[in-house]
Amino acid sequence: MSTYPFSAVVGMDDMRLALVLNAVSPAIGGLLVRGEKGTAKSTTVRALTAVLPEVAVVPGCRFSCDPAAPDPACPDGPHDASAPVAVRPARLVELPVGASEDRLVGSLDLERALTEGVKAYEPGLLAAAHRGVLYVDEVNLLHDHLVDLLLDAAALGTSYVEREGVSVRHAARFLLVGTMNPEEGELRPQLLDRFGLTVDASAPREPDVRAEVVRRRLAADDDPAAFAARWVDEEQALAERIARARGRLASVVLPDAALRQITTVCAAFDVDGLRADLVMARTALAHAAWSGRSEVDAEDVRVAARLALPHRRRRNPFDAPGLDEEQLDQALQDAADQGPDEPPDGPGAGAPDDSGQDDSAVDEGQSSADASAGAGAGAGAGAAPRPAPEAPPAPAATPFRARLLTVPGLGTGAAGRRSRARTDSGRVTASRIPAERVTRLHLPATLVAAAPHQLARGRAGRGLVMRGEDLRESVREGREGNLVLFCVDASGSMAARARMSAVKGAVLSLLLDAYQRRDKVGMVTFRGAEAQVALPPTSSVEAAAARLQALPTGGRTPLAAGLLRAADVLRVERMRDPSRRPLLVVVTDGRATGSAGSAPTAPVEQAQRAAALLAAAGVASVVVDCESGAVRLGLAVTLATALGGELLRLDEVAADSLASSVRARTATPSRKVA
Ligand SMILES: [Zn+2]
Repeated sequence: MSTYPFSAVVGMDDMRLALVLNAVSPAIGGLLVRGEKGTAKSTTVRALTAVLPEVAVVPGCRFSCDPAAPDPACPDGPHDASAPVAVRPARLVELPVGASEDRLVGSLDLERALTEGVKAYEPGLLAAAHRGVLYVDEVNLLHDHLVDLLLDAAALGTSYVEREGVSVRHAARFLLVGTMNPEEGELRPQLLDRFGLTVDASAPREPDVRAEVVRRRLAADDDPAAFAARWVDEEQALAERIARARGRLASVVLPDAALRQITTVCAAFDVDGLRADLVMARTALAHAAWSGRSEVDAEDVRVAARLALPHRRRRNPFDAPGLDEEQLDQALQDAADQGPDEPPDGPGAGAPDDSGQDDSAVDEGQSSADASAGAGAGAGAGAAPRPAPEAPPAPAATPFRARLLTVPGLGTGAAGRRSRARTDSGRVTASRIPAERVTRLHLPATLVAAAPHQLARGRAGRGLVMRGEDLRESVREGREGNLVLFCVDASGSMAARARMSAVKGAVLSLLLDAYQRRDKVGMVTFRGAEAQVALPPTSSVEAAAARLQALPTGGRTPLAAGLLRAADVLRVERMRDPSRRPLLVVVTDGRATGSAGSAPTAPVEQAQRAAALLAAAGVASVVVDCESGAVRLGLAVTLATALGGELLRLDEVAADSLASSVRARTATPSRKVA
C-alpha cells in the first residue's frame, strides 16, 4: 500500500511545516491539527513517515531499542553491545479512539502468570510507537482513561503496566500527532497543553489551488504507484533536508536577543507557566536548523510563536484557540525596542542613533497597551453577535455550578462523569467468569473457585494448583457520559427579558456541567409555528452555548412539536450510539398554545400525548419549571408526570440550592392551606 507523497500535499503549509519541525526536533513535543472534515489532515500525517529518517534498532527487540543505547530495563533485554544492527523505516502507529487499555499499553497474560508463574507480556501500541509517530485521529473523542495513560507515558517517556502485582515497564518516546474537528468538541486542557504545537487546517479558498488539489488527488487515485513515482525525487530531497537539519540542530545558537523576544511574547500573551517559552525556544531552534541557519533570528521566533502559542493562552472553555497576529507583531516589536535590561557592553552600545525613532517607539509602547485593552473588549463584544432587527436576544445570566442530573439505573455507555454504569475502571462491585482473556482479576473469587478442586487435582506442594477455568474477573461500576438533550421553550410566554436571561443562565450552567462530565449535548427549541433542532447532538459545548446566546424568543408555544422533535432526535441517536443513554431536559413553563383558531385544549392534550410517547420509549427526563409570578398554573408538574420524569424549579438547578428548595416546597402547600 503506497501512501500519498508528503511533498505532493498542496496547501496545508503550516501543518506540513509543524510536522517537519517536529521531525527535526522531537523535543518540541508533537502537533495538534484542528480543522473541519475533508481537509486531508490525516493524509498529510500518514505521509510523514516516508520522509522521516530511518531508525536503527536491535534486531528481534519488540521495544525498538537503539543499539547505541539499549534500554537497560528492556523486557526483551539485556541486549548484547556487540549484537548486529538492523535499520527500518520510521513507524506511524494509529491509536483508534475506542481502543481498549490493553491495546494501548499492552497486556499481561494473568492466566499464565498464575498457573505457570510466567510473566507473559504482549506489547501494545505505545511500544510500537516508540521512536516513531503515535497518531490519534479525532483525539478530542479519546476516552478519558486512554487520555490519562497517554499523558503519563508522554510525560515520563515510559509505559508502565501493572495487573494484580505483575508489572512491566518499557521506554515509550514518540512524536504525538492528533487531529480533530473542533465542531465535535474541544480537548481537555491537560491534553491540549501536552501538544507542542497546534495548527488550524482549512481547505484552500483559491479556486486555482483547489483545482490543483483535485487534479493530484485524481491522479493519485487513478494510479497510486505511478503518482508516487513522480514524487520520488521530491520525497528524497525532503528526507535529506530533514536529516541535515537534524544533524545541524545541536550546533544552532539561541542568542540572548532572540530568547528575550520569546519570553516577551509569552508574557504578552499571558500563557500559563514556562512550558510555552521552552516549546517556543525549541521550535525556533528547529526552524533555524531547517532554514540552514546557525543562529535563531526574528523570523524563527515569529514562526515559533504562531505555532506554539495559540492553544496556551489563558481562556475559558468556550473560547476557541487563536492568535492575534497584530498583537504578536507588537510584542515582537516591544522586545526589539526594550533591548537588554543590562547591556553587557555598557550604556551607549545599544543606544538608538536616531532619537526620533526612539520617541515613536515609546508612543507605540503606550498605544500597544491601549490597543490590547481595546482588543480584549472587542473580543468580548464579538463573542455575542447581536442581530440588528427585532429585539436583541436576552443575554444569558452568569452561569453557576449546576446540580448533577442523572439517568436512573445502570448504563453501559462510554466512560464519563454523569450516570452510574458498568465500566472498565471504577470500584469493584462483583466478580464473574470472564468471556475473554482476564485483564481485571478478582483474586479472592479466583482463589475461592480453585480451592474446592485442590484434592482432586492432586495438590502436593506448597502452591495452589490453578487452572484457567478458576479465573474470575472484577465487575466494576463507575460513571458514563450521556446525551443531554435540551428542549427549550423560547415562546412568548417565556419572553419576559429578565426571566429569559435566567433561563439561558440555567441552561448555560447545565451545558458547562455537561462539558465537564464529557457528555454529548443537543438542543431543540420551539416557538411560533414550529420546533427546530438548534443544535444536533455534538460534543461541542461551545457551539451549544453560542446557539443559546443568540436564541430569539416570542410567539406561540408549540410544546408538542418540541417534544416530538426531541423524540425524533433521540431515535436517530439511539441508532448511531446505542449504549449512550439520553437525558431529556425540558425547559418550559408547561404552557402549550396552538395556531389561532384551534381549540384551546387541543395543544395541551397533544403535549400530553407527546410526553407519554417519550415516557413509553424509556427516555429519562427532567422538567425545569420556568413558571413565575403570583398566579401559577402548575402546568410543568402535569408535564413532568406525563413524562415520568423529575421536576425542578428554575432556582433549583444550582448545585447548592437543595436546602432552600426543600423548604420552599414544604412551605408552598401550607401557604395554600392558610
Ligand atoms: Zn530492547
